[in-house]
Amino acid sequence: MLENLTQQPPDKIIMLSGMFRADERPEKIDLGVGVYKDANGNTPIMRAVKKAEQLLWDAETTKSYTALIGDGGFHKVMADLVLGDTVAAERLSFAHAPGGTGAIRQILELIKVASPHATIWMSDPTWPNHPAMVKGVGIPMKTYAYLDDETRTVDFAGMMADLGQVNAGDVVILHGCCHNPTGANLNQTQWQQVADLLLERGAIPFVDIAYQGFGDGLVADAYGVRLLAQKFPELLISASCSKNFGIYRERCGLVIAVSKDAAGSALTQGMLSSLNRLNFSFPPDHGARLVTMVLNDPELRADWEAELEEVRNSMLGLRQKLADALRTETGSDRYGFIAEHRGMFSRLGLSEEQVAKLREDHAIYMIGDSRFNVAGLSDKVIPILAKAIVAVGG
Ligand code: PLP
Repeated sequence: MLENLTQQPPDKIIMLSGMFRADERPEKIDLGVGVYKDANGNTPIMRAVKKAEQLLWDAETTKSYTALIGDGGFHKVMADLVLGDTVAAERLSFAHAPGGTGAIRQILELIKVASPHATIWMSDPTWPNHPAMVKGVGIPMKTYAYLDDETRTVDFAGMMADLGQVNAGDVVILHGCCHNPTGANLNQTQWQQVADLLLERGAIPFVDIAYQGFGDGLVADAYGVRLLAQKFPELLISASCSKNFGIYRERCGLVIAVSKDAAGSALTQGMLSSLNRLNFSFPPDHGARLVTMVLNDPELRADWEAELEEVRNSMLGLRQKLADALRTETGSDRYGFIAEHRGMFSRLGLSEEQVAKLREDHAIYMIGDSRFNVAGLSDKVIPILAKAIVAVGG
């Protein structure tokens, strides 16, 4: 049986990490996988998370199963974090899943059973796991224009033209903030226009929010998702705690579904619960418990928010320094967009060949589409990278 399997293409990001590990050049620089790193290249456990772990170690008395959809306390703090008070609690249903990725998978399966003929729309480009998972679940997909290659800002006219083709009942994936891989984001006016257009088309928005707090701040980054929550009868949300709580390996993500009313929400809740049972039964608990403790304890929460701000500001500072270094090296402002973008990533706009040369000649690793991890930069790395970009003809 197993010999009938076909070779699967390796995940490009994970393959790149393997290549980086195997590279023996001591000066190698990793700008690939999307993990936050501090100035020393470490991915620290956030202070409040560590403190919560210590408290949990003392307080936890059992490792028995939780609930199929995870803990209600976790749902509540996350609904507050993502949605504020924009939606009545009776319209919400939840499923705690292994990571944002797990939450996306559960939402796709929910769509598949609720609306077998829907098409899912996603930005071109998007996080490569979006199309891969939609294909895996077997849902038809289409893309909408997103990036203007010249200005490296959102191609808003192209996006609106494509979204104008969406049919009633189709689902449209939107990045809540910090668009991966482009770093280019909608402003508030554009969010309003997208919301109005999708409402008019009868579409259902699906917001993937994996970097809340990494862009313009916790509340500002939730602007889009909260706006949609206020306007739409139905909304699907996958929220990841991997990045903003730094708990990548704890696999902590949440499905938040907004239904028309309490009856719709009860139905959705039943299906989400069943999907968890079928796919993995009970979700991993540790990360969710830490998030709940941090968000519920005023002292821990204040410290977490302060550290998240440090992380956010450090990435903004690194963006500005790289843009400045590239202005000096190129004598032009063509990389000025790096300072304007938000989140962990930007795409430089280099060709696959130039990216390969960066890796081969300069031991600098980034994704083939020239997406780089801002958090991989440092005062030491920035001048080296700026010179290398120019050396490969960028
Ligand atoms: N969505 C986007 C856009 C992402 O970039 C990521 C992680 O890279 C995720 C979701 C899911 O992250 P995780 O499954 O690690 O929580």
